[in-house]
Amino acid sequence: MGKISTVLRHDVPLEDKNTLHLNAVAKNFYKIHKFGELKMVHKFYRQLYKEDKQIKLLVIGEGSNIVLANQDINALVVCPALKGFYIERQNKDEVFVNCSAGEKWRDFVIKCCQNGWSGLENLAGIYGTVGAAPVQNIGAYGEQVGDWIYKLKTYNVKTGKYKVYTAEKCRFAYRSSVFKTKHPFEMITSVTFRLNKHFILNDSYAALAAKFRDVPDYQITPLNVAKAVTEIRNSKLPDVNVLGNAGSFFKNPLVSKERYEELKKKYPDISAFDDDKGVKISAGWLIEKCGFKGKRKGNVGMYEKQALVLVNYGGATYQEVLSYAEDVKKAVFDTFNIELEAEPKIIE
Ligand SMILES: Cc1cc2nc3c(=O)[nH]c(=O)nc-3n(C[C@H](O)[C@H](O)[C@H](O)COP(=O)(O)OP(=O)(O)OC[C@H]3O[C@@H](n4cnc5c(N)ncnc54)[C@H](O)[C@@H]3O)c2cc1C
Repeated sequence: MGKISTVLRHDVPLEDKNTLHLNAVAKNFYKIHKFGELKMVHKFYRQLYKEDKQIKLLVIGEGSNIVLANQDINALVVCPALKGFYIERQNKDEVFVNCSAGEKWRDFVIKCCQNGWSGLENLAGIYGTVGAAPVQNIGAYGEQVGDWIYKLKTYNVKTGKYKVYTAEKCRFAYRSSVFKTKHPFEMITSVTFRLNKHFILNDSYAALAAKFRDVPDYQITPLNVAKAVTEIRNSKLPDVNVLGNAGSFFKNPLVSKERYEELKKKYPDISAFDDDKGVKISAGWLIEKCGFKGKRKGNVGMYEKQALVLVNYGGATYQEVLSYAEDVKKAVFDTFNIELEAEPKIIE
């Protein structure tokens, strides 16, 4: 690689760069600390492309929503560690906050709440970076991040050009956006959020409503909601440093209202919730019903407290993860005739 190889690293282990702790190796790896380095990344890509026209780009934030489904990652792997946030503009009701892609999501949410800016508090405690949050339109406790995004900026590593996407152009949907399925060379470099200065509690989730039932109004603040959400999450989800995982391994499948009624007749305890397009069935409930909650096979299994989370008990290979996930999918399909779809991005 000549003189640029001093900053572009080769054969970098990724085990500590993905929360499932799968053991893969990046052929080419670059951590971006400053916006000024983006041109350099573009140069690296072009140089690698000259040698291999198939070379891909893989952007990794905290690696909490990926399955590295190969030992050797033949790509330019970049990790945007771009930091900082500032107010772009504000009025008496709203504040437009620009945040760089490499900030940790959970830290950014707390900072917003501490400033009294509301909107993101129900999304507190989610792993990952700010730049990755729009990719799958992260959601929890009745909120989705896409509803709070005003615009975002990307850098195309292949062409070396910046682009601005309005929220509409991001095509946010349930755990999806244009960045999850398209635009493989666009790296999100910053996101502008449109947040409220006036706080309204979204307690549509029973567990959250219960936390605030007897709490006086003056104590119901964005920060206290963020803390409560984090507490609930921590009581249910495994710590990635103890048990490797990527959060929910499957999306909640959508069925028609008619199909839901049929299922409800057969399984009166079915867990489901209404959606604009039909009814979403809890994937966790389906998996639990098939007997996978806490069921271990080799080094992997579905978590004992939450059947939707596939965990690595230590030393799991990607083959084990994918084969176990297939077993789960097959059992759910055979029992309910419902197809589960993986939520994390499978990186071939
Ligand atoms: C315990 C646990 C709980 C979780 N709970 C939730 C939850 O409640 N709700 C939820 O929605 N998710 C949840 N997740 C999933 C995950 O935290 C989010 O999807 C998060 O946004 C991923 O961020 P990341 O930085 O780790 O992205 P990565 O895993 O590194 O990347 C994910 C995808 O985004 C792409 N990407 C990353 N950064 C960029 C960028 N700057 N530009 C372009 N593409 C990029 C990657 O190439 C990849 O395709 C959970 C995960 C864990 C481990």
